[in-house]
Amino acid sequence: MTAKIIDGKLTAENIRAEVAAAVAERVKAGKSKPGLATVLVGDDPGSHTYVRSKHKACLEAGIESFGHELPANATQAEVEQLVMQLNADPRVNGILVQLPMPSHIDEESVLKAISIEKDVDGFHPLNIGRLAQKGREPLFIPCTPAGCMYLLEKELPSLEGANAVVLGRSNIVGMPVALLLVRANATVTICHSRSRNLPEIIRKADILVAAVGRPEMVKGDWIKPGAVVIDVGINHVDDASRPKGYRIVGDVAYDEAVQVASAITPVPGGVGPMTIAMLLKNTLRAAEINDK
Ligand code: NDP
Repeated sequence: MTAKIIDGKLTAENIRAEVAAAVAERVKAGKSKPGLATVLVGDDPGSHTYVRSKHKACLEAGIESFGHELPANATQAEVEQLVMQLNADPRVNGILVQLPMPSHIDEESVLKAISIEKDVDGFHPLNIGRLAQKGREPLFIPCTPAGCMYLLEKELPSLEGANAVVLGRSNIVGMPVALLLVRANATVTICHSRSRNLPEIIRKADILVAAVGRPEMVKGDWIKPGAVVIDVGINHVDDASRPKGYRIVGDVAYDEAVQVASAITPVPGGVGPMTIAMLLKNTLRAAEINDK
């Protein structure tokens, strides 16, 4: 069997086009343009690249974006003051604090300072708490996990009763994906660095979401024939044959897995592009919440 390739790039482009059309419609109806503010603390080059691409995506969708940068030695009070200022700014519908922040900053305290109606990254403790509780609805779902679910639900009409394994339990990917799968009525196993017999557990999965940050760790013979594989990993590995001297691979050994799975996301071009698409969707939603 050769797996169907789940095209996250195309899906993300379609979502971005839908958001752009909805924004144009809003503006035509005399409503405000949605606005996204980003907060970047320090000079991590990766974070700068991510934030730049978020601003570019906003521009293309007709969403206003406001970039705020603070130096690496900014104090807790300075970061939180900026967040409070953005909470009060009516042009700003969504606030995105780029993570990780420098280690002297208490991230949870900053995330808690974001107004819940502007929490487009979905990391406010209240939003995450609601995600974990039956009968409660978060206002926003974290973007990468939402992107994984969008691709999965497009692939499988019902996740009900499916055996899902989530490899990784981070706050930003693994744990929220697992909570979303539970909400979709899958039977979920969460694996992490202390789990034993990973191949054995993964071989039972109808759905595998891999988010560990370990290049090609999941081998083809760990995968149940016919499983749907969502590979969140973005890992740089040395490759002298490439102009940049490296290539990007996922957490799953793609060439092997593609022979066994029924559908799989490639890296790059799978989950990666979905994150920004979901951020735009959340920012539009924040503007709509603000209308009410
Ligand atoms: P973290 O490093 O925060 O979490 C990694 C998780 O994997 C932890 O729960 C850890 O376990 C677990 N883990 C690590 N090594 C092993 C192992 N050998 N066996 C089993 N479990 C292990 O990573 P993130 O969740 O932030 O990111 C995961 C991957 O997804 C990365 O490659 C990252 O680049 C990518 N990513 C992609 C995004 C996108 O597509 N837009 C967005 C965010 C991340 P423990 O908890 O025990 O330490």
